[in-house]
Formats: sequence, C-alpha cells, structure tokens
Amino acid sequence: MKKLIFATGNEGKMREVREMLEGTGIECISMKEAGFDGEVDETGTTFEENALIKARTVAKALNLPVLADDSGLEVDYLDKAPGIYSARFMGHDTSYTIKNQAIIDKLEGVEGNDRSARFVCAMALALPDGTEVTTRGTMEGLIAKKIKGTNGFGYDPIVYIPEFGMCSAELAPEQKNAISHRGKALRAMKDEIVKVLA
Ligand code: IMP
Repeated sequence: MKKLIFATGNEGKMREVREMLEGTGIECISMKEAGFDGEVDETGTTFEENALIKARTVAKALNLPVLADDSGLEVDYLDKAPGIYSARFMGHDTSYTIKNQAIIDKLEGVEGNDRSARFVCAMALALPDGTEVTTRGTMEGLIAKKIKGTNGFGYDPIVYIPEFGMCSAELAPEQKNAISHRGKALRAMKDEIVKVLA
C-alpha cells in the first residue's frame, strides 16, 4: 500500500481525507503518526503558498509524499480580509463570537451583494522528488447581519449561503461537505493523488 502523509493535527480533516482515499490503495497517515512533530511557519502570501510550504517542509523531513491544506474567509468589502490571516484575525485566543461580531460591525450599512464573501481552501501535494500540485475550492456566500447556527466552526455562523437560504453553521455536515471549499479542493486533489502516486 502506498503511503501519503497529511500535514494536519485536525482529526476531522484527517477523517475526510481517509474516507476520500478508501479503495484507492493509498494509506493516509497523520504527520505525527509518521514521526514529524515540528512546527511549520505559514509565511506565504496566498493560501496555495502556505499549503505548499507545509507540504514541502514535511515531505523533505520524512522523505514521503505529503498533502497539506490552508483555508480561510475572504470578505470582498474588507479587501479580502481576513483571508490567509483568518485563524490569526484579532488574535488566536479571541473567541469566534467576538471575531464574527467584529466582521458584522465592519459591514454596518453595507447591503446586498456588496456583502459578498467566500471560504477558500487550497490543497497542496508535495513529493520528495520536487513534484508539486495544488488545487483550490471555494464556497460563495454573503456576510449575514446576525450570527446564526451552531454547526461547523469558525466563521460558519456569519456566512449566509444563498443556495440553501441559511448560514453555513445551519447546514448539516453532509450538506456542507457536498458544497464546501474543502470538499471541492479535496475531490479535485483525489484525482491528482491517484495520478501521481498510483
Ligand atoms: P486552517 O486552514 O485550518 O488554518 O483554517 C484557517 C481558518 O479559516 C480557521 O481557523 C477558520 O477561522 C477559517 N475557516 C476555514 N474553513 C472554515 C469553514 O469551513 N468554516 C468556518 N471557518 C473556516
């Protein structure tokens, strides 16, 4: 069985990737299980760069193929902020109730499509021989005027998805996976993984 390392400490993401690779003959292992416990600084200026930096660093350290991701929320009215700084926005330890309310407040008086926003996910695959592939998925929405819903995490309670008529945090997990930025980037990456590793 071919081995693929996923550079994440997030159990939920790990499960999604394992499920996706079922039946492909590729075994997915977390970087910790593979013996990498270092930190990788996200010094890139795009989602793709940050995902690539992570994948490349771990691939070199372990001499194995590595998959990594980077994601965040782009708000058009805020010049695409918080973007790659989504996790760091207002400080790592600030609650999402505070972060989400701050974004709603910044959009006070902004109406309709001027509230456009999207979740973005970039996935990167890096091989020890220098082969590199990236994919991107997005989920388009509008910044809601009120925090709503308890599913999901992070910015889900303020991203209204017109297609469903509700906020991302009100979607069932299967509904969100079917249309999410991560789901789309992952499905595109599956084809690349199978091509490169098979
Ligand atoms: P990372 O890619 O795991 O570093 O995530 C970056 C940050 O983007 C998260 O901490 C969240 O703030 C935000 N984010 C990414 N994807 C989602 C999502 O599906 N829902 C809500 N917030 C998200």
